[in-house]
Amino acid sequence: MREQERHEEPVVHLLWLNAGLSCDGDSVSLTAATQPSIEDIVMGALPGLPKVEVHWPLLDFAGGPMQGADAMIDAYFLAAEGGLDPFVLVVEGSVPNESIKQEGYWSGFGNDPETGQPRTLAEWLDRLAPRAAAVVAAGTCATYGGIHAMAGNPTGAMGVADYLGWDWRSRAGLPIVNVPGCPVQPDNMSETLLYLLYQLAGQAPMIPLDEALRPTWLFGATVHEGCDRAGYYEQGQFAAEYGSPTCLVKIGCWGPVVKCNVPKRGWMNGIGGCPNVGGICIACTMPGFPDKFMPFMDEPPGARVSSAASMVYGGVVRALRGITLGTVDKEPKWRAKGRALLTGHKA
Ligand code: SF4
Ligand code: SF4
Ligand code: SF4
Repeated sequence: MREQERHEEPVVHLLWLNAGLSCDGDSVSLTAATQPSIEDIVMGALPGLPKVEVHWPLLDFAGGPMQGADAMIDAYFLAAEGGLDPFVLVVEGSVPNESIKQEGYWSGFGNDPETGQPRTLAEWLDRLAPRAAAVVAAGTCATYGGIHAMAGNPTGAMGVADYLGWDWRSRAGLPIVNVPGCPVQPDNMSETLLYLLYQLAGQAPMIPLDEALRPTWLFGATVHEGCDRAGYYEQGQFAAEYGSPTCLVKIGCWGPVVKCNVPKRGWMNGIGGCPNVGGICIACTMPGFPDKFMPFMDEPPGARVSSAASMVYGGVVRALRGITLGTVDKEPKWRAKGRALLTGHKA
């Protein structure tokens, strides 16, 4: 019996494919999502959402521990044959270029019944992408290649859009949706999945994406624009070493030119956020990561000019603010004991 026939109500399947070059960090990250949590999505806690079945190697809700790995992987073979419909395909990890290798395979997920050999990510994408209602790339490896796609790598690794094509459209007419981050911010991932599920249910308009296929409401602002330390930058106060509460640009923060909402959103339950808690932004969400931001911990080239200007301007502003602060940090003089009314009140 096909998976779909077991249910009376319509089901949307979420097929998470971590067959690529990955550390599974984005899977782990999703377990920390709270707005919504993956449990909220699976348990039907959100009004108007279709029933969702998640097929996810990290935590297989449908197969369960009693069914084993075969039951888990069966869903992927079923989907590739058209037996799961509709489904959202989530890809984690970069796509190695299998056509350049001499022998063997760079990636594998289950064995191909025809050859008995591991089925590569590229082969899974060739089979699953044409049948998917939507394709989502989770994390910077899947979106743009990430760490494995650095200069000098032997696998020719790339992101999903590099493999399928940047103009690729799903059966439902959706572009690839990229949610970068190394790892992906948990709520960015769960919120994007939620949006797509609502869109497929006819309850949301086309997902708004920028030129790098990122959801615009998540990646429209820079780290700097949401950073707790931006006030120090404006006043020309820069850290020379870790442990300082001031701006980190001189010790390697790329925040002014990086699109990421982590300083505003935090990492888990609103807590954390790279520069907010003392870590430089190394631009892990960006298509040019990591090569264009290395060596990490060096002052970014553009920062020298902007921080020099900020030190001059910020020094003057800070001095003037110091004078104002000295005034407003004291109570008005009429708040005192005695028989005289000093407030200036006129009867
Ligand atoms: Fe791991 Fe980062 Fe790649 Fe995700 S993007 S698979 S967290 S290396
Ligand atoms: Fe901007 Fe980074 Fe400084 Fe924050 S720490 S204000 S993101 S340069
Ligand atoms: Fe990555 Fe920078 Fe965002 Fe931190 S603030 S998650 S390092 S892009």
